[in-house]
Amino acid sequence: MTMSLQGKAAAAPAYGSESLIVCDNLVRIYQVGRIEVQALQGLDLLIDDGEMLAIVGASGSGKSTLLNILSGLDVPTAGRAVVAGRDLLAMTSAQRLAFRREAVGFVWQQTARNLLPYLTAAENVALPMSFAGLRGRERRRRTGELLGAMGLRELADRRPGGLSGGQQQRVAIAVALANRPRVLFADEPTGELDSATGDEVFAALRAANTRFGTTIVIVTHDAAVSAQVQRTVAIRDGRTSSEVVRETTIDSAGASSVIAREFAVLDRAGRLQLPGEYRSALGLKGRVRLELERDHVGIWPGVDRPASAPTEPDASEQAGDAR
Ligand code: ADP
Ligand code: MG
Repeated sequence: MTMSLQGKAAAAPAYGSESLIVCDNLVRIYQVGRIEVQALQGLDLLIDDGEMLAIVGASGSGKSTLLNILSGLDVPTAGRAVVAGRDLLAMTSAQRLAFRREAVGFVWQQTARNLLPYLTAAENVALPMSFAGLRGRERRRRTGELLGAMGLRELADRRPGGLSGGQQQRVAIAVALANRPRVLFADEPTGELDSATGDEVFAALRAANTRFGTTIVIVTHDAAVSAQVQRTVAIRDGRTSSEVVRETTIDSAGASSVIAREFAVLDRAGRLQLPGEYRSALGLKGRVRLELERDHVGIWPGVDRPASAPTEPDASEQAGDAR
């Protein structure tokens, strides 16, 4: 290694030091009787300030576990989790409560869990601000602003029972934003809604993202939400497995088009999961041949071992030979 490379390595920022949310080798093991369930198995994820991101994955892949940890409701078994500069493994219970009231907001799938049924939409939105000690006048101004941003100004005096499912979720977003959190977490926020109503809720989440700059993290088992956000992270078996990034490009004629690119995620130990369709298309299994090229790495199906004794020693059998 040359001196200049060494200098660079020393100056390189720590993993996630510029991110709003850092998950570094996050592990969560549930103990159920004598059985251990590994809900998160070394998950790495970085989220930038101001992003709107979806986390998708099959049922049981660990999405809710991750969100519960990031919103301070649950504590990981091992690893590092940092949200808005706060280390979630090193908080007192008082700090945890303050974190949940001030730094983050959440919206749950069950519309009924988000709102108090005997309060109006406006009263629901104002409640977290009263807890935070905001004065009456400022509280009313901000309640109006939030309901307006969610397109609900006319419905301010209705109770949840008099609102549709989509309207209730939009009120829930306004409640979650009341104390100006840095991040809003939403666990399957459209799970109980039809797709047209779900789109309305996504539009409201986007409004929160663009108008207030709130970072939005949405968890869902519906892979179709990729179309609604810039970046989608897929998790499988408690680890991040791939990402889709959507970019809007504008051609020379001024027409814009959206390109979605899929990326695999390389973990910090260098492990990579190849998509199943790639593996089956080329019959990749067991050992594969890897070759480092100038700007990419090639992967070929491994050739079978020759039946007779090889004339040269097989390099892969020489333990400790890294080449
Ligand atoms: P998802 O939200 O992606 O459906 P979860 O995070 O809810 O997944 O669950 C991940 C895994 O952890 C599943 O195998 C689930 O059964 C298990 N699990 C979740 N919560 C608990 C719990 N409180 N006790 C025991 N096991 C749990
Ligand atoms: Mg879940």
